[in-house]
Amino acid sequence: MIRTHSFPCSLPRSEADALNRESGRVYAATLIWQYRIYRRKGIWLSPSASERLGDYLRSTTLHAHSRDAAQQAFHKACKTAKVNRAIGGKYPHKRKWYRTTIWKSTGIRVRDGRLLLARARGLEPVMVALPPALAGAPPAAVVEMRLVYDRITKRYHWHLVVDDGRRPPVAPGAQTLAADLGDIHPAAVANERGAVVIFTARDLRALNQYRKKQLASLQAAMARKQKRSRRWKRLQRRKVSLLARNNRQRRDIEHKVTRAITNHARQQRARRLVVGDVRDVGKGKRLHANSQQKVSGWSHGRQIAYLTYKLAAEGIALARQSEAYSSKTCCGGGAPNKPKGRTYRCSVCGLVCHRDANGAVNQVSKAVYGSYSRIQPRTIMYRRAFRRSSRDTGHVACLQRQEAAPLERLRSVTSLE
Ligand SMILES: [Zn+2]
Repeated sequence: MIRTHSFPCSLPRSEADALNRESGRVYAATLIWQYRIYRRKGIWLSPSASERLGDYLRSTTLHAHSRDAAQQAFHKACKTAKVNRAIGGKYPHKRKWYRTTIWKSTGIRVRDGRLLLARARGLEPVMVALPPALAGAPPAAVVEMRLVYDRITKRYHWHLVVDDGRRPPVAPGAQTLAADLGDIHPAAVANERGAVVIFTARDLRALNQYRKKQLASLQAAMARKQKRSRRWKRLQRRKVSLLARNNRQRRDIEHKVTRAITNHARQQRARRLVVGDVRDVGKGKRLHANSQQKVSGWSHGRQIAYLTYKLAAEGIALARQSEAYSSKTCCGGGAPNKPKGRTYRCSVCGLVCHRDANGAVNQVSKAVYGSYSRIQPRTIMYRRAFRRSSRDTGHVACLQRQEAAPLERLRSVTSLE
């Protein structure tokens, strides 16, 4: 299975900057030539034709394949834009001064617990110690290495992509589950029999709100200061550390929530988990200020990415499906109603149920039968996927401890029968 290990980079700042600046230069030159040729000749170069341009874009510091990777990044971005055109995808048009440098497997060697990353001919390779998780047992195959800059913490990180040689297991069963990802509760998961589990993580929402509040007040304070003054810089530092800490905390909670969902899917003997495709949420439409803030605060992409690889390690597939009207349609009779608050009420058949549960059973119904309202929620359970440690030190309880002592509390069970 393909796994990515992320660990801090200890290269001198100037060296790391130089590598990523060179990757940015190659990317920008590719972009410029692509558009220049298009303007003058009306030809849109194919990726392979563009690579032949590469001779003009030769790099004196990067390995030939790292340079290719920077070039290919432009074509990948074009491809993504094409796919996402319907939801407002834009073709890449901005020059980049810096870009993540990528080493392909051909430019990487593992020797004595160290990675040797090749550079241009005649230059010494970059040497990096293997991350602690891999130091004991070197990976079966290295797929890729990336030098990634984190804008928030202003630090470099290595991302090492390895193939650990393990085959993903077969799915634990044949059931289909559907998850409705929300912002009040991270997820409501329904199975084919209508059993719904709502995963809660109040801290995730609290973190988002806290971040927005603090950020607003810091930015207001900064606006009153002379730009780049001593006081302004002090506030800037506070802003950076606030964002960095907040991101770490959010990532931690998101890992725990997706782990809880994965464990649930395994217990349910799932073959696949269907999630609503919300890639177009927050784009092109303006909602009420409050809802807009919630929508844009979602980190769905990251939650789905975590879910995908966690589920894959259990042999469970993640599928996307349009979620249009799934939360508005009554799961009892198919009548459309606009949900108000957290409860769904149907004006036709009188059904009353949890709003997220209604969405989740509709999703699973569509995945299994091809239409909404074929499955009704039978039981609704709340599962707290994350809670702060009781001895609150500002650090959060680690996952292993949570699993050893089942802290996921059953808060209430509602039966509709
Ligand atoms: Zn109804």
